[in-house]
Amino acid sequence: MTTAHLPPVYPDLAVPERVLLGPGPSMVDPRVLQAMTAPVVGHLDPQFVALMDRVQDLLHYVFQTRNALTLPISGTGTAAMEAAVANMVVPGDAVLVCANGYFGLRIAEMARRYGGEVSVLERPWGEVFTAEEIGTALAHCPAQVVALVHGETSTGAMQPLDGIADAVHAHGGVLIVDTVASLAGVPLAVDALGIDVCYSGAQKCLSCPPGVSPITLSPRAVEKLERRPVPVANWYLDLALLRQYWGAPRVYHHTAPISSIYALYEALRLVAEEGLEARAARHRRHAELLWEGLAELGLALHVPAAHRLPPLTTVCVPDGVDEAAIRRRLLDEYNIEISGGLGSLKGRVWRVGLMGHSSRRENIVLLLAALRRLLR
Ligand SMILES: *Cc1c(COP(=O)(O)O)cnc(C)c1O
Repeated sequence: MTTAHLPPVYPDLAVPERVLLGPGPSMVDPRVLQAMTAPVVGHLDPQFVALMDRVQDLLHYVFQTRNALTLPISGTGTAAMEAAVANMVVPGDAVLVCANGYFGLRIAEMARRYGGEVSVLERPWGEVFTAEEIGTALAHCPAQVVALVHGETSTGAMQPLDGIADAVHAHGGVLIVDTVASLAGVPLAVDALGIDVCYSGAQKCLSCPPGVSPITLSPRAVEKLERRPVPVANWYLDLALLRQYWGAPRVYHHTAPISSIYALYEALRLVAEEGLEARAARHRRHAELLWEGLAELGLALHVPAAHRLPPLTTVCVPDGVDEAAIRRRLLDEYNIEISGGLGSLKGRVWRVGLMGHSSRRENIVLLLAALRRLLR
């Protein structure tokens, strides 16, 4: 007998408060959750428009940029990645993607879908590129667009960015950098580094619920956008349209995710209150505490110390240990979430995130104590 005409009855929403130590989402500061409960207003309400300006102002600080075209994309980090690619790649453009992990390969796949002639400069997962080798690759095969990942969350490696923009610009290209897992967790100055398109996400080091993703475009990137011979193939993510909503003449494009913008505002305010330098220092201090503790447990790390990404650590799974079972017990018995490996590191590493509000001493002490017991 069918019951489709009866209203279904389900329990109240009940979600445990986890200790989130994976690659994102990170834990959310109560102030940010509180901000999301503010009344929803219209997306062109003068009060909301004033808030949009303040969000953009705070983003200028967090990105360390004066770029006029700086706004949050509606969607998670992948949407910002797609916005970067869709707006910068003109069909037929030579695109060089430096890929040393899962997210680099995702950029390459997107660039192909937007008509780029993509070449991939590859490195084993966990290694990083030098500015020289990128310059050499461009000398052999100039590219109109070059993309790489600053904090490769699949490997735990942090790509040094000094000198790369110069090499890209010398060959007439624009540089896209993915900072989804690094913005507000490690030092990053967009203008000083010469990055043309820099995007991030909310739920990593900004410690905001997933759903909005900051992006910023340099004057060089804006010029490329304005000179496109064909419109951006993705209407929703077309920055030429989006900037007319986020700035004058404030024309409707799509309804801003109002409550998510409240959350982002509060999360950015928290970053500004702490200060970027102090925040990066906290992420490093706590990462080092984790690395020392893991060494004491006899656990090896996948990435050499020189290139480690403080917000995300990859831990080698010891021989004979069922990595998924350990993760399951961490969740069931200790309420802690960590993550397994992706792609070529699947089954070989655990990924431990110390991002934003999750990057606290007590979380590290708890995780190390739990691992000590579970691995005994
Ligand atoms: C998490 C992440 C993404 C994707 O972000 P989503 O919010 O999952 O869409 C992209 N790049 C990097 C480096 C990431 O860590």
